[in-house]
Amino acid sequence: MFDALSERLESAWKSLRGQDKISESNVQSALREVRRALLEADVNLEVVKTFVAQVREQALGAQVIAGVTPDQQFIKIVNDELVRVMGETNAPLAQAGTPPTIVLMAGLQGTGKTTATAKLALHLRKQNRTTMLVATDVYRPAAVDQLVTLGRQIDVPVFELGTEANPVDIARQGVAQAKTDGIDTVIVDTAGRLQIDPKMMAELADIKQAIQPHEVLLVVDAMTGQEAANLTRTFHDEIGITGAVLTKLDGDSRGGAALSVRQISGQPIKFVGVGEKVEALQPFYPDRMASRILGMGDVLTLVEKAQEEIDIADAEKMQKKIMEAEFDFDDFLKQMRLMKRMGSLGGIMKMIPGMGKLSSEQLEQGETQLKRVEAMINSMTRQERKNPKLLSGSPSRRRRIAKGSGYGDKDVGKLVSDFQKMRSLMQQMGSGGGMPGMGGGMP
Ligand code: GDP
Repeated sequence: MFDALSERLESAWKSLRGQDKISESNVQSALREVRRALLEADVNLEVVKTFVAQVREQALGAQVIAGVTPDQQFIKIVNDELVRVMGETNAPLAQAGTPPTIVLMAGLQGTGKTTATAKLALHLRKQNRTTMLVATDVYRPAAVDQLVTLGRQIDVPVFELGTEANPVDIARQGVAQAKTDGIDTVIVDTAGRLQIDPKMMAELADIKQAIQPHEVLLVVDAMTGQEAANLTRTFHDEIGITGAVLTKLDGDSRGGAALSVRQISGQPIKFVGVGEKVEALQPFYPDRMASRILGMGDVLTLVEKAQEEIDIADAEKMQKKIMEAEFDFDDFLKQMRLMKRMGSLGGIMKMIPGMGKLSSEQLEQGETQLKRVEAMINSMTRQERKNPKLLSGSPSRRRRIAKGSGYGDKDVGKLVSDFQKMRSLMQQMGSGGGMPGMGGGMP
């Protein structure tokens, strides 16, 4: 999911690649890409405008971080803004001081409302909270039966009065029953229509008035994109929601809905639906969602850790990769950046016994070489970085990288063959009892 959005954003990073800092002039094109990417991902225009303005402000005021390139820093800024718009942290379900906690589910037909009702009950049951479901959708054929079946499946009681009763009465009596039975949380499923409909809204408002829920969750289908913004606005204006459940995130949705809901209503997404099965519900975490939208998890971690010490666990993981000859260009880049983070090459060399005597010219050459290598790796696709073998057999791939990085075909060819040699050398050294500086010393 979210592929389209992350792919579009890649061009934004590219336009900053090779520049040494974020400035008014180079940030413009990157912002244009962000804007286009978000619009193509079906994010509401108003949401996009606010978002882009905020990113611009942050980017121009950003402090340059050593060892981090402008494109990486820009990604981090966009990521942080995404996290902020989506609400920073996970917002848990409201809990009443005196049970039962009453949850009202609202949304259009087909969004996955009934499924989400059962999913939520199962989620709470797993936390040892008792739940009850209430079936008030008396219009859609077999909606009551659907909830009853789901309830049986997850072993949760369902309150229903058939399809002849009045939905407001059913809701009221259901909540009363939950109180009598000492239930912790009662979840009221309601009727949806294919489109927003005044009668449906009026009925929802009546039910809300009658049962005074602690939580009104709007169920939004992630596939609806742009529409999610209007839908959220209407439901929030007319009923007042306290949160949302974003369903069908397992499908190939373009992610726009996730951004719009919070920005428009000011209310958090609390859960996401990730499949048809009743177990397929997860708490919503803005930071995880942002990383998914960007598809750039590694870079973010890198930037976050830029000023930290080298992580031991990381070094051990690297060691394992070396031993198994799985060390790839991403790992290589990571090691190079770790080195840079510790200071200039000269500075590091001085710390290594016997190496301090290199001439400044030799050191400069070393630095230049590192920059070249980095530029070439940056022009590889994610796949190529993960699987260096792709490059040995494909002159056209190497040519593309040469073009992208501004170096010659020969330079890329040399990098690839050097890398392969280095990899097998490292493997030999690794299995021979550890390597200094690479988390060596494993038994
Ligand atoms: P309602 O009309 O809003 O109550 O919608 P339903 O709960 O009946 O769901 C409509 C359809 O969407 C059903 O086929 C569900 O299996 C499916 N569905 C619900 N949630 C999800 C989800 O998170 N992922 C996927 N892939 N399908 C879902």
